Amino acid sequence: SPAATIDPLAELNPQQLEAVRHGTGDDAHDQRALLVIAGAGSGKTSTLAHRVANLVRHGADPQRMMLLTFSRRAAQEMERRVGSVLQRSLRLAPSAALPALPWSGTFHGIGARLLREYALRIGLQENFTIHDRGDAEDLMGLVRHDIGLAETKNRFPLKGTCLSIYSRVLNTCEPLDRVLQDMYPWCSQWESELKRLFGAYVEAKQQQNVLDYDDLLLFWDEMMAEPALAAEVGARFDHVLVDEYQDTNRLQSRILLAMKPTGQGVTVVGDDAQSIYSFRGATVRNILDFPRQFAAGEARVVTLQRNYRSTQAILDASNAVIAAARERHAKQLWTDKAAGPRAQLLLVPDEASQARWVADQVLRQREAGCRLKSQAVLFRTSSHSAALELELARRNIPFVKFGGLKFLEAAHVKDLLAVLRFAQNPRGRLAGFRVAQLVPGIGQATATRLLDAMAEAAEPADVVQRFEPPPAAREAWQDFAALYARLRRPASDWPMELELARDWYLPHLERVHDDAHVRKLDLDQLVRLGAGYASRERFLTELTLDPPQATSDEAGVPLLDEDYLILSTIHSAKGQEWRCVHVLNVVDGCIPSDMATGTTEALEEERRLLYVAMTRAREHLHLVVPHRFYVTQQAGGGDRHVYAARSRFITDAMAQRFDQVTWPPAQPQGAGAAEPAAPVLQVRARSRAAWR
Ligand code: ATP
Ligand code: MG
Repeated sequence: SPAATIDPLAELNPQQLEAVRHGTGDDAHDQRALLVIAGAGSGKTSTLAHRVANLVRHGADPQRMMLLTFSRRAAQEMERRVGSVLQRSLRLAPSAALPALPWSGTFHGIGARLLREYALRIGLQENFTIHDRGDAEDLMGLVRHDIGLAETKNRFPLKGTCLSIYSRVLNTCEPLDRVLQDMYPWCSQWESELKRLFGAYVEAKQQQNVLDYDDLLLFWDEMMAEPALAAEVGARFDHVLVDEYQDTNRLQSRILLAMKPTGQGVTVVGDDAQSIYSFRGATVRNILDFPRQFAAGEARVVTLQRNYRSTQAILDASNAVIAAARERHAKQLWTDKAAGPRAQLLLVPDEASQARWVADQVLRQREAGCRLKSQAVLFRTSSHSAALELELARRNIPFVKFGGLKFLEAAHVKDLLAVLRFAQNPRGRLAGFRVAQLVPGIGQATATRLLDAMAEAAEPADVVQRFEPPPAAREAWQDFAALYARLRRPASDWPMELELARDWYLPHLERVHDDAHVRKLDLDQLVRLGAGYASRERFLTELTLDPPQATSDEAGVPLLDEDYLILSTIHSAKGQEWRCVHVLNVVDGCIPSDMATGTTEALEEERRLLYVAMTRAREHLHLVVPHRFYVTQQAGGGDRHVYAARSRFITDAMAQRFDQVTWPPAQPQGAGAAEPAAPVLQVRARSRAAWR
């Protein structure tokens, strides 16, 4: 068809083209690093995809490109976009095989792969397990207990706080006392104990052959500090490209610099106005410092001004919100899209009416031709969607939720994964402890005895085979030992072993949980997921680093042909767009969050968060302002209703850029309450109880 033969570059504007062609063709003499800095929806991610495709067209080898994105989902999307551009530009048949980008993923995911590959050369074992945040917290708790800090009278910080402090020190590359002073002043008195704790934590990880998330960056960084290795890794990649650079931290920028000290082959894109991860140590300074950090001279900087995503009305409202920010690169986005309907501020009495209004609106938009998948509901914190989830379930509106309670946090899913992890790495105590106690008749004491024996053995896996459990557990133990031996076989047949592990686990599930039949569906789901991975190691790594997040009945597997609404935290909505966006709880206390009003920096980050939410919308944007909302207290206190005011980020002057609508409208005399819309879709939402 004629459409297939159009040069894809023809659709780009001159600035995008400049970024895409930098360093190739006529521009080949210029090998400086490239920074694309631009506002939301200006085509940064598209430009990056075009750049990759263009490099490939100019002979670059996709195997030698490292593409770092914010999530694995984003990496897959990028691969798809690159493929589609290549397909069009090379005029390939739709069935032609496209080059894969084997090194696309998150910093952590790519780090894990490199570390496994180089493990033996940097003093790691290749079969290390990766602890997710929950595991890391548990291990921190155990260590804290072991070295006697848990019982102190003067309220030693909680294990979660300890882990956050530890993590912050690593990710910001700042000394402990600085971090304590700036971020955790109430923990300063514990500095020396914390040092001791962190030392013991590091040692425990080493003994157990586990790495936590931070280690993936830390060891990668340390590996890069060895000049020979840095040169070797750097030389494997002709191009390193990073999306969403505003949300990288110091460690990540250091790794990038160590791989590519001259800047040749480096491309980063980002938007300082969308920096929303400083609570994890990300710093917008990375973007600001970028131009001047490379040996070969200043980087080339390209800015994009034209927005292709949103209508003028939505841009006006979003620009107004971000224009009030204290510090930012001045950039005013423009579009030549139609003005479109004005953004709406919906004033509703409480969260129940907010939920009803959003459900009504979602269905109305669908009637008007905007399918559910083109709509999203965004919120500051996962718990804010609770009332809406109930309302959606009541009306049979299917939805998938991102950024909330995760699939992998369910006890039964953790159990099954622990079996695989324990087989992968017999020194991992958390997994081992969990698994041993799944065997009927084995309790904490016996499990500890087992793990201690394993820790001392040269071949820990053999201990499982000759272990003597209490007599009552002997038979069950033999069953487990047989499974374990099977899973430990060097050439095991993945994903068959996942099914074996599930089948071994099922009787336990039925013994312990009343709703075993519901939970079993999740395990089946896990088995299906597993079939998509090449090996146990890849499965465990990827799952830990970028878990499926959806907590609908589909539990992370996209419903390919079905229509469903997206519910997402604003953080997880980064980089995405929908025709119609509803933002919940745009009130003080939620946006900005109560927790974030302490410092100007924290407050400014909340403003950017609102900006990110608003700029996800292409045609319709609704900000809902409940007059009363429900707060779940962190400690003690209990839950309560509070009266709320419109978010301070939308001043009276800005409010004029919105249509203000009060709902429900005042009832004319004698009229009854509106009937709820009749159910229109299949029941899909399932009891959330399975996740507890
Ligand atoms: P964000 O800051 O939210 O990550 P972004 O700058 O990465 O946004 P993209 O997601 O790449 O922006 O693009 C936004 C939308 O604009 C997409 O739908 C994309 O297809 C479209 N777009 C980008 N460039 C062009 C162009 N030159 N012509 C037409 N549409 C474009
Ligand atoms: Mg983007």
